[in-house]
Amino acid sequence: MKNIAPKLEEKQYEENFAELHPPFTSNSAVAEANRCLYCYDSPCMKACPTHIDISTFIKKIATGNVKGAAKTILDSNWVALTCAKACPVDVLCEGACVYNERNEPPIQIGRLQRYAMDRYFENGMPQLFIPAEKNGRSVGIVGAGPAGLSCAAELALKGYNVTIYEAKKIPGGLDTWGIAPYKMRQADSLNEVRLVESLGVKINTGVTVGKEIAASELLKSHDAMFIGIGLGSSARLEVPGEKLDGVVEALDFIEKVTTRKWRSVDVGRRVAVIGAGNTAIDAATEAKRLGADQVMMIYRRSEREMPAYRYEFELAKNDGIIFHFLTSPKRLLGTKHVEAIECISMRLGQPGKDGRRRPEEVPGSEFQVPVDMVIVSVGQNLDKSFLAQLPGVTIENGAVKVDPETMRTGNPKIYAGGDCISGGQEVVNAAAEGKRAARAIDASMRS
Ligand code: SF4
Repeated sequence: MKNIAPKLEEKQYEENFAELHPPFTSNSAVAEANRCLYCYDSPCMKACPTHIDISTFIKKIATGNVKGAAKTILDSNWVALTCAKACPVDVLCEGACVYNERNEPPIQIGRLQRYAMDRYFENGMPQLFIPAEKNGRSVGIVGAGPAGLSCAAELALKGYNVTIYEAKKIPGGLDTWGIAPYKMRQADSLNEVRLVESLGVKINTGVTVGKEIAASELLKSHDAMFIGIGLGSSARLEVPGEKLDGVVEALDFIEKVTTRKWRSVDVGRRVAVIGAGNTAIDAATEAKRLGADQVMMIYRRSEREMPAYRYEFELAKNDGIIFHFLTSPKRLLGTKHVEAIECISMRLGQPGKDGRRRPEEVPGSEFQVPVDMVIVSVGQNLDKSFLAQLPGVTIENGAVKVDPETMRTGNPKIYAGGDCISGGQEVVNAAAEGKRAARAIDASMRS
């Protein structure tokens, strides 16, 4: 890459990537917990996809029973620390808190959950769950992300022999590799992996099912399979110049930043991020915090249609990110390195099949923007080659088709959950789906 932004002092990196929401002290946690009204119908609990008994864990924090609070949380969610730090709480539990109706700040449920889970891990993960005696059945899980870990933990508790097969050397999926360091740290995700392992789950890392081990072999050696592979390769822009030096995929860039080896991650002085989802925003804010002079986001629809959450958008604006809405890249220009993007202005036409108004080019409106780096974040594709090895598993609208009640695919022995069935949702949805699949697998084995 040409025109790499100068490296910062270590202290500056630490400051730029400091946690957005600092932890509660014991006193502030108890004070916040005491604001909770312990509503009889707990709208916060209904709004959480894993249905954590929020009022109960908050009550436990208020009475000083922090270990009990962690138990209540983990009863519903095995990746609760990740969720506490990375969930979009203002559109989930905190968004449903009754305090909003009074125009008062909602209970800070995410920070309270984090308080309980931080203490639990700091105290050496005291044993809260005793797995049932082994029942002689085994389940193979592909992917050690939040869906796979949740399914594995739940099944291990019920007495199953559970083996997770994970392609990466370090497990945790996007919880480990895809969340901005100012939201959470890799160590948090790895603590949750350790918790799942402590229940007897075996994790085989560096094993790609479909390559090192055949899918058919897993089907033979296990009584059931759960697929939690997430999404695969990043979608391409499909414009000329995409292979130029300095053009990178958002998830690759974010993965490097997640390791916290800030100085080893090169960033251009002028960066353009293509896309406007939450991943695109993470990439843009990380580029800025690594020292880029100017970061812009290019999105072909308007602000109203952008998929990123409002608070992510505000975060990016506060970081000084420039937004070019109704703009689409036509070509990436340069000889060896990317030097500019040729863009075209867009306008919104009639709604498409998905109900969203289709962007259309405005003829003759091309213009060029000089850049040193382009980060592409226009979605990910499902790994169809692996799925094709699983008889009965079908794909619909770019995702694995499952029965939403049981997470079962067209093959009665194979279940699935997480991003591979949703096309990309929150960690908390993946956690809920993994757990739901585990219950359905157990029910089918007992019937
Ligand atoms: Fe407490 Fe708010 Fe939930 Fe009511 S809705 S139980 S006040 S967190």
